Amino acid sequence: MRKEQTSLTYDPSHLKVGVLALQGSFEEHLDMLDGLGVNVVEIRLPGQLEGLDGLILPGGESTTIGKLAVEFGLLEPLRTFGGEKPIWGTCAGAILLSRDAHRTQPLLELMDITVDRNAYGRQIASFETELDIPVLKTVSDSTAPFNGIFIRAPLISSVGKDAEILAALPDGRVVAAQQGHLLATAFHPELTEDDRVHRYFIHLVLEKIRSLWQES
Ligand code: GLN
Repeated sequence: MRKEQTSLTYDPSHLKVGVLALQGSFEEHLDMLDGLGVNVVEIRLPGQLEGLDGLILPGGESTTIGKLAVEFGLLEPLRTFGGEKPIWGTCAGAILLSRDAHRTQPLLELMDITVDRNAYGRQIASFETELDIPVLKTVSDSTAPFNGIFIRAPLISSVGKDAEILAALPDGRVVAAQQGHLLATAFHPELTEDDRVHRYFIHLVLEKIRSLWQES
């Protein structure tokens, strides 16, 4: 796997990051995190959230993932986890993080964003495009654009006052947002060879650990 130069210094083997493994493209996230030397755990049950430093909600089908989360008794534990620790949602995962998806489906409602599912229409349901994501400079010296892979992706249709825009398409449509330790991307960095967004998430995980240390 190709690695970009990084300005990030940490011992990743001390971190434990989970990937929700109910449905969808969770394997690719596990591989990417593994490549960064982080301890990775597949999460299917509430008790497995114990001791995690961060969690990724993968792409897939947000209605299915949401229903399974309800069935496995994970919805409330995930909400509590996200209130304290970093969560990154990709695509369906971003939908789960949103406070409103304009449909009736289980959501975590952790981020002050709303989304429109399958927002790009049938003709261009899946596409790739180069994205400028300025915050990646935090973890990489590279200024190369990020290859955004969109698969029946949601549009982040509004970003409330508590959240900020990290990336948008040239026409202004928002495709990535952050709210403190919560991150949402409408595209799939785990399907690329470029680990900068994963490293940015690890950076958020480390920031959180540092701030919890300072508080205690
Ligand atoms: N279309 C899916 C949904 O609405 C998301 C697609 C994806 O995660 N790649 O849940």
